Amino acid sequence: MKKHNFSAGPSILPQEVLLKASEAIVDYNNSGLSVIEISHRSKDFVDIMENARSLALELLGLEGKGYKALFLQGGASTQFLAVALNLLEKRAGYLNSGSWAAKSIKEAKIYDDIYEVASSKDANYNYIPKGFDIPTDYDYFHCTSNNTIFGTQMKAFPNSPIPMVCDMSSDIFSRTLDYTQFDLIYAGAQKNMGPAGTTLVVIKEDILGKVSRKIPSMMDYKVHIDKGSMFNTPPVFAVYTSMLTLQWLKDLGGISAIEKENEKKARLMYSEIDLNPLFKGFAAKADRSMMNATFTLENDNLKDTFETMLKEAGISAVNGHRSVGGYRASMYNALPLDSVKALVEVMSELESKA
Ligand SMILES: *Cc1c(COP(=O)(O)O)cnc(C)c1O
Repeated sequence: MKKHNFSAGPSILPQEVLLKASEAIVDYNNSGLSVIEISHRSKDFVDIMENARSLALELLGLEGKGYKALFLQGGASTQFLAVALNLLEKRAGYLNSGSWAAKSIKEAKIYDDIYEVASSKDANYNYIPKGFDIPTDYDYFHCTSNNTIFGTQMKAFPNSPIPMVCDMSSDIFSRTLDYTQFDLIYAGAQKNMGPAGTTLVVIKEDILGKVSRKIPSMMDYKVHIDKGSMFNTPPVFAVYTSMLTLQWLKDLGGISAIEKENEKKARLMYSEIDLNPLFKGFAAKADRSMMNATFTLENDNLKDTFETMLKEAGISAVNGHRSVGGYRASMYNALPLDSVKALVEVMSELESKA
């Protein structure tokens, strides 16, 4: 039986994407060859890469607006330093809203001075700092749209006077936003787009070429743009599967269609957390993530019963991250509303038993 998969990442993908990807592993488009055993320079693969790149821009509403999409390797974690290498000349401002944000700050500090515009670290990152100033003479401002571990999400973005860079690893393609307000967006595929192994980077080209340092080729956005995201062998399977997911999303009606589903799932999940006296939400209400709901079970004695019930209902991976504890239900694009219904049912059944 297929499980209700609430994994935080790598995470659930649409069933039809998994089926198509598995067919292509054996025989791509009746070519007699697997998609992972053909040259990345072949027409078949070049088409896949170009399709993936243009679908990403199209879904974000960034086509024809000076942006380029790349599918790179090394995870979002490599982007923490790539951003600094490509954009940091003197000083940058970072919003410290979670552990991933803190890691991005740590990497950028290797290269130059970093100023934390605001931080919610003192409250174990249970809210998004607001009302901070972004200095106008810095190179860029960096933020994290969704804090996967803590379950907080930026609902609004500052009107940044300098280029705005955003780590969207865990909520890319999940909600309508004016994506032109960002100059660089990056996201590891494995949360809302595809298998681990590739990272989407969307860059407004005119922010590049402004630093004086030499940039190693593999870390240089300009090199990857000039080579059509094929400077070296791309992660072909991860790119192909991401392309399938982006096509799936487009066929559904794009981001505005999936956003409505995501809102339904989040509303159902949080109303159970709020109404059921056994549970307590972790994140500040105004900043609650539509993707990752974090909550605790107030009575420790019920832990084993709850977890047995979850298992029996086929609910997988709702354990919280070690730095928060409790539970985390990740509700990415591919998670059906029925899975949230199943989880909420178990929670309310626990209440009636307690
Ligand atoms: C998972 C995650 C990362 C790290 O991604 P990797 O691909 O494992 O390097 C970075 N930022 C956020 C917001 C994440 O959720």
